[in-house]
Amino acid sequence: MTRKSLALFGNPVSHSLSPAMHTAWIADHRLDAAYEARALDLDLQPDQLHAVMRAGVSGANVTVPFKEVAAQAAQAFSDTVEMLGVANTLSWVDVGEGYRVLRADNTDVPGARRALDEACDWERDVESVLIVGAGGAARGMAAAVSGDGRTITVANRTADKAALWKDMGLAHAFVGLDRLPDAVADADLIINTTTLGMKGQPDLDWPLERAKPGAIVYDAVYAPLETTLLSKARARGLRTVDGLGMLIHQGALAFEIWFGVKPDTKMARERLLKIIAEREG
Ligand code: NAP
Repeated sequence: MTRKSLALFGNPVSHSLSPAMHTAWIADHRLDAAYEARALDLDLQPDQLHAVMRAGVSGANVTVPFKEVAAQAAQAFSDTVEMLGVANTLSWVDVGEGYRVLRADNTDVPGARRALDEACDWERDVESVLIVGAGGAARGMAAAVSGDGRTITVANRTADKAALWKDMGLAHAFVGLDRLPDAVADADLIINTTTLGMKGQPDLDWPLERAKPGAIVYDAVYAPLETTLLSKARARGLRTVDGLGMLIHQGALAFEIWFGVKPDTKMARERLLKIIAEREG
């Protein structure tokens, strides 16, 4: 059997904890494989990503800003990728007679949901959801928390993604960031899916003084783990969910796609918290 080569494609990728997480799982299961982060050119096209995969990559995670390119590079898709147009996991599937095709999956959706389920009992309390940001992670979050009559409002810097969201039918309202204070005041669950608050990126002055006392605040950003959004929410006594749970669960589901085994998510959290403490301390 040949050694499997796994990759994380993004730009930037140096902050990512995925290589440490997958490398530890590979060792846990004594697999003959290696996982490395690779920054690709920002103007990457789907055929170029396909060529990178063909050049010896057995499976990949895909992060900002290539999730749409990943969906377009594949010939086979999960239903979620078909619906959302974004993928975070690539793998090869045999189609017979020695042929294989590139398959795109989206493990962000079930990963985000599992992280939320694990962190708090939210379903009973949440009727209205505010998603800040309208990119790939936002689409995944919307799919993860929709259902049971919940209303979903998306707040984004630029308005031109509103039409796409309307076509997908995933949100009930789309507003600009100037409407954030009112949108925060109406929400039971507030989710940040922008890059704001990420290490090296600008931050936002979150109007959490308007939040309901019982609101839950979920940040997809995990570097730093304690974003200003989460620390502000904690200071107000709100329930919080950090981005590490989503990272671990989406990664575990990708690992299962590539290797057919379920890795230990609890141990992953302990390991990653240690790495974060070293990096941030
Ligand atoms: P994306 O598709 O590039 O979307 C980025 C979003 O951030 C867009 O809505 C963009 O708004 C907004 N944004 C960027 N800079 C901004 C600024 N200066 N002011 C206001 N809005 C700004 O990225 P993505 O794939 O959705 O990922 C977004 C974040 O989620 C990243 O931090 C990523 O690390 C995180 N994430 C975490 C996990 C996890 O496992 N925890 C998984 C997936 C993603 P415009 O539309 O106006 O450009």
